Amino acid sequence: MKAIRFHNFGGPEVLQYEDVPRPGLGANDVLVQLKAAGLNHLDLWVRSGVRERNISLPLTPGSDGAGIIAEIGSAVQPLKVGDRVLIVPGLSCGACKLCLSARDNLCQEYRVLGTKEDGTYAEFVKVPAANVFPIPDGLDFNQAAAIPLVFLTAWHMLNTLAKIQPGEIALIHGAGSGVGSAGIQVAKLFGARVITTANSEQKLMKAKQFGADAVINYLEKDFVDEVKRLTQNQGVDVVFEHIGGQIFEKSISVLTKAGRLVTCGATTEYLTQIDIRYVYSRNLSIFGSWMGSKQELAEVLKFFGTNAPHNRKLLPVIDKLFPLAEAGQAQHWMEDRKNFGKIVMEI
Ligand code: ZN
Repeated sequence: MKAIRFHNFGGPEVLQYEDVPRPGLGANDVLVQLKAAGLNHLDLWVRSGVRERNISLPLTPGSDGAGIIAEIGSAVQPLKVGDRVLIVPGLSCGACKLCLSARDNLCQEYRVLGTKEDGTYAEFVKVPAANVFPIPDGLDFNQAAAIPLVFLTAWHMLNTLAKIQPGEIALIHGAGSGVGSAGIQVAKLFGARVITTANSEQKLMKAKQFGADAVINYLEKDFVDEVKRLTQNQGVDVVFEHIGGQIFEKSISVLTKAGRLVTCGATTEYLTQIDIRYVYSRNLSIFGSWMGSKQELAEVLKFFGTNAPHNRKLLPVIDKLFPLAEAGQAQHWMEDRKNFGKIVMEI
């Protein structure tokens, strides 16, 4: 089969389109013939070696994907060959107390597909049978591959951790990113008012189409001043953060009393300062968020496709399609922050 692999850490140029053997199956595994693979920022961290601990090379990256079950292990049921499925990106032991109580994302063995084992930048991927869900009715493979990681992340951040409430105000950083475009929609789903940021007018227009109530071009205006203006100096209840550095630091100052900041990553700087006076005097909470449970993904998927409640729908946001062989160009597109929403490779 064809797959993208890298043999050394580096830039997008290390990604090679190669012939590799099809993976063999264990009794509880399924082999999925992928039709689409979604890119995530995580793929860039893995390829560049930023997260190189315990990564053995060569590796096929990719956490998100959708396709058709091509083969099933001897103990697998009730799945069958031909089922249309999307990949659940979080892998865990499946047997510990945390896995059995729907907190598999906290399992000691938890890892994301495409970081320790071969992922979805390939014609076929092997995953445990527990790691495929049916594609919601009415969605094609590209749309299905654009959902799991970012919507699971946004759901875990805003619903599970920040417990966002109707009428609250959320500041969603980076509207154009996959996770930002998901965050806007999840915050709106819970009845929040959304302020969001991006680096171009075009992206801000799209953010409004997906539900943002107010937008800030962060290249032209200081988001702290703008948030104060837009909230009559009250600040926001929730900050959805994934950028890091100064953005994290300044975001603390725009939270109102009992405000919550949730972070799922740092695409710029890892190190920053926190003015602790804001944290105690305003009763703030800071949450770290990494992925979410399988059960949470099942929950979020109910809001997609033709079976979703008609007035409470989530939409996959696809920016651009690339063929699998052009994975390097696709990752360049993401690194240059040209996208609004997800970049998907057709396979
Ligand atoms: Zn476990």
